Amino acid sequence: MSFSALSLIAPLLRALAEKGYSTPTPIQMKAIPAVLSGRDVMGAAQTGTGKTAGFTLPLLQRLVKGAKVHPNHIRALILVPTRELAVQVAESVAAYGKHLPLTSGVVYGGVKINPQMMKLRPGLDILVATPGRLLDLFRQNAVHFSHVEMLVLDEADRMLDLGFLDDIRTILSLLPKKRQSLLFSATFSAEIHTLATTLLHKPVHIEA
Ligand code: AMP
Repeated sequence: MSFSALSLIAPLLRALAEKGYSTPTPIQMKAIPAVLSGRDVMGAAQTGTGKTAGFTLPLLQRLVKGAKVHPNHIRALILVPTRELAVQVAESVAAYGKHLPLTSGVVYGGVKINPQMMKLRPGLDILVATPGRLLDLFRQNAVHFSHVEMLVLDEADRMLDLGFLDDIRTILSLLPKKRQSLLFSATFSAEIHTLATTLLHKPVHIEA
């Protein structure tokens, strides 16, 4: 199995070749077709399985076809539990998307908010964010959610462990109802299932 067999477009195949990746991991083989099909996805995957590329590659491919970004708007939102993961995921988005005309950025707490507000000013195709800082930016009118087409909740179990459930619920309430949503978690508690039920519409279930 190769990445080209998964119907990925040439700019993504080029970026993968440059990273030296030739064979998709099991989670990528399942996640890429599912996300490309437009379905919601519930993914059971630990870190180290290649899940980041599993959702990032098809997310980039779907966004290429769509509309232009507007000032202070975003088209895809990737929510992650920690600053470290935010930076890592944003690096992956930038690396896999380097040959595509898409813009991306990352915001997280514990640093000055003003530079992040400046970065959001022209709008971004893809924003990687931790929940608390994202809501701060929303309350300051620095980011609008009405054009969000895709949502990823990465490491959902860790987000709940860190007490982000209320923030996540608030963010979900602000997003357009018509969107594609993906949820990834290493473990599945009753709370994750409840969250998945409110978040996902007829999801494809995949595991690493
Ligand atoms: P992740 O589980 O997304 O944190 O990825 C784990 C590590 O595997 C990261 O360092 C990735 O860059 C790397 N990786 C992802 N996909 C592949 C692949 N298809 N082949 C080789 N390495 C990969």
